[in-house]
Amino acid sequence: MEHITTHYINGTFAPSHGQRVRDIVSPVTGELIGDGLLADVEDTRAAIAAAREAFAQWSATSVRERQGYLQRLADAIDAHRDELGGAMSAEYGAISAFTSGVVDASRDWYLQAKDVIGRTVFSERVNTAQVRRVPVGVAALITPWNGSAWFMAVKSAAALAAGCTVVMKPSENSILQSHAFARAVHDAGLPPGVINIVYGLGGDVGKELTTNPDVDKISFTGSTPVGKAIARSAVNTMKRVTLELGGKAPTVVLDDADFDDAVQYALTVWLFNSGQACVSGARLLVPESRVEEVKRLILDKIGSFKVGPPHDPGSMVGPMATQAHFDRVQSYIRLGLEEGATLLTGGEGRPEGLDAGTFARPTVFVDVTPDMRIAQEEIFGPVLSVLTYRDDEEAVRIANGTDYGLQAYVLGEPEHAHRVALRITAGRVAVNVMPADSEAPFGGLKQSGIGREFGHYGIDEYLEHTSVFSN
Ligand code: NAD
Repeated sequence: MEHITTHYINGTFAPSHGQRVRDIVSPVTGELIGDGLLADVEDTRAAIAAAREAFAQWSATSVRERQGYLQRLADAIDAHRDELGGAMSAEYGAISAFTSGVVDASRDWYLQAKDVIGRTVFSERVNTAQVRRVPVGVAALITPWNGSAWFMAVKSAAALAAGCTVVMKPSENSILQSHAFARAVHDAGLPPGVINIVYGLGGDVGKELTTNPDVDKISFTGSTPVGKAIARSAVNTMKRVTLELGGKAPTVVLDDADFDDAVQYALTVWLFNSGQACVSGARLLVPESRVEEVKRLILDKIGSFKVGPPHDPGSMVGPMATQAHFDRVQSYIRLGLEEGATLLTGGEGRPEGLDAGTFARPTVFVDVTPDMRIAQEEIFGPVLSVLTYRDDEEAVRIANGTDYGLQAYVLGEPEHAHRVALRITAGRVAVNVMPADSEAPFGGLKQSGIGREFGHYGIDEYLEHTSVFSN
């Protein structure tokens, strides 16, 4: 049982002023495995003040100095890899194969930022002006629970590389993961106040971060409704915002695809992180004339996506992060039936043999129409909607027919698939490959967000242009 009673403020583990206790419950067994004290507004203000104080010196560091610190952060993540991976499995049930990838990627964000600022032009002459790119100030980084270290690393690497200081507010559902991350950050030995981490709720800590005039920038990853509330709140003090929000990614299987490979791919991108991913391919679009073949292939293959505990090497799908999230997923399964969709496999309840925890059954609905809520809304769990189309026009129309535009997948003969991909409204479209590139921009169109992360695009979000004119 871990009792977390501190936040990471001004280079120390400061006792929490907030006294509200948050239980940490294992999604695998349903047992209490720890608790944490949630920050209050006072803790948040202390973290913001520390970041503000540290900003003057940090923003004046040389690129070389910041590169040295980014390397130390990468080394610290490596040194804490077992602890970080273990916390992810314990707290939200991420399977082991996923956690090791997340930890590696978290380290790599610091290495990438180190490399990118070595190539960034921070000052240039434009006619009579010296145009500089200056850090925007204190950045508040608000993150979700589905692989906490990854989100904390991608955002802090870009912000610190640009010369910003940060206050991180991870999800209240990821205190264990975030505390492991704070321990790694502490070992990296950055100057006090450059990184601060407070564990708290959106309603008070989040609200303080989005209204406090000493915060200049918000970078948020989470749901679209919360993103809208943050943008509204941030505008009063004109904070810059980057919003990485929800998705309802389509996987479009074209008539000239290899259907066996395509269905395997579709199930893989759907069940990534147990379906708890903004990029999950939650809608499968297939030609109407081939739907029976697709159904057979899904039924043949679904069994190999075994649901089980995180440390079982055979597990491909873990539990839902919390009981509340499990209940939400179940309510969408009931909704699909009420809306008239047909259950191909799965359904309500836990899979056979798993009597405890928040394990959901991978559930596939067919006879889904584009207007159904299960085809429109983000479920964020292992529920797949199979939709049919008659021609490419209709496939594109259905693919683009939600409020979201984060990610899409197109499978088919390469030139054909490429042509279709160019017509899909999404920040990223993967054609016959996994979208693995971490230097290309990541972010959403439409209600999937504003701004971009990854590579220099991510660092740009923390920089502003200024001009000084002279002869
Ligand atoms: P959430 O929106 O409920 O919470 C995200 C964070 O916002 C948490 O830290 C929460 O405490 C905080 N928050 C809540 N209300 C707030 C407020 N009023 N002001 C400030 N902060 C507030 O999301 P979640 O359940 O943690 O994560 C799942 C969601 O995140 C899904 O919608 C998913 O699509 C999205 N997501 C998006 C991406 C992406 O990169 N686009 C990646 C992962 C997850």
